[in-house]
Amino acid sequence: MTRVRFAPSPTGYLHIGSARTALFNWLYAKHTGGKFILRIEDSDKERSKEEYLDEILGSLKWLFMDWDEEFVFQSKRFVLYKKYAERLVEEEKAYREGPAIIFKVEKDKDVFFDDMIHGRITVSTKEIKDQVLIKSDLTPTYNFACVVDDAEMMITHVIRGDDHISNTPKQVLLYGALGKTAPNFAHIPLILSKDGGRMSKRHGATSIFEYKGMGFLPEAIVNYLALMGWAPGNDREIMPVEEMIRLFDVKDVNKTPATFDMDKLSWMNGQYIKEMESSILAARSEDFLKDKGIIDDKFDKRVWGDVVKAYKERTRTLDDLVSVYKIFFAGELEYDEKAVEKYLKKANSKDVMNRCKTALEGLPGFDKTAIEAAYRKLADDMKVKAAELIHPTRVAISGKTVGAGLFDMMEILGRDKVLARLSKFC
Ligand code: GLU
Repeated sequence: MTRVRFAPSPTGYLHIGSARTALFNWLYAKHTGGKFILRIEDSDKERSKEEYLDEILGSLKWLFMDWDEEFVFQSKRFVLYKKYAERLVEEEKAYREGPAIIFKVEKDKDVFFDDMIHGRITVSTKEIKDQVLIKSDLTPTYNFACVVDDAEMMITHVIRGDDHISNTPKQVLLYGALGKTAPNFAHIPLILSKDGGRMSKRHGATSIFEYKGMGFLPEAIVNYLALMGWAPGNDREIMPVEEMIRLFDVKDVNKTPATFDMDKLSWMNGQYIKEMESSILAARSEDFLKDKGIIDDKFDKRVWGDVVKAYKERTRTLDDLVSVYKIFFAGELEYDEKAVEKYLKKANSKDVMNRCKTALEGLPGFDKTAIEAAYRKLADDMKVKAAELIHPTRVAISGKTVGAGLFDMMEILGRDKVLARLSKFC
């Protein structure tokens, strides 16, 4: 049975790169019917923080990555590492230097492993120094704790970032010394920013929770992460997670670095929003607005449902809906001053707005079909294009030049609000 692990160090938040490493492990476990296990690499007690751990676990859950079994904390296993190191000393494979224990590396030997992505990697031990296993403060080194744990936890596949490639030959030597079989290794390539450098704050948010705050959907993030370095073929881009599970194989991951493209992620998020049922999007965006402290329980869900339906097609992130919310619910509108200047400060603007207002006042009902008919008739009567009425009305009632269909917006706002907003420009 496949047993893979994700081994975060709780010394920082879960960022895009580690989330993708976790996802590839998770997909591989699901694909093979195996287990996905978490190991918390908190042997550095100074730098490891509870809040980071909570955030990492919260991010994994948010991205639907459930794990099997109890997770393992390295900080609780120091006795075990010590025991293994002592055994190597007894067998004269390691020696002491004060309280530290150091592994003897046999010189002039080749050590290799067959990486599932990169193929065979061979290194001469000439290039490997003796390895500290237990430091003088009695904490284990990463390489040693990692090998002891992967062996004890019966991990079959180690899937991790290729920044660890140089550690792997050292780990292979340790497996040999401990008389254990090394697992399979797959080192996944780095994620680079669009300008070819390493991902950093400069290129946008790096922690997964920041993306949550920016209104990204976890489904879209999972989809986007999966495609960074892996392609299912046929240029497929939008795919449900069940299909990713069916098609994913770690050996198909690219050797070359993947590029993180924020525009692509936004586009993908927009696709997920577009495909989502309006009622679900309304509920999810409501949670988002609540989390941001924008709405409370007195919020009018019925009106919001209509708003979301009208704006769905043009929404890329849940955050886009914050400004939309303000148009329909806030007391005071925020106006795009340039748009006001362009559409509502012409010589005849007041007259146009007045005529629109009068036409709307006379309508028996206030549904979009009736509103549209009234606008078209008025444009005919005035011998102008309907656009001459539509553009200024849009700015007057929403403060912006873009948005959902004007007549949809007007129906949702209702007659009183529309007339009041037009009055400001009469
Ligand atoms: N804690 C290590 C890291 O976050 C884990 C490396 C590994 O998977 O072996 O890079």
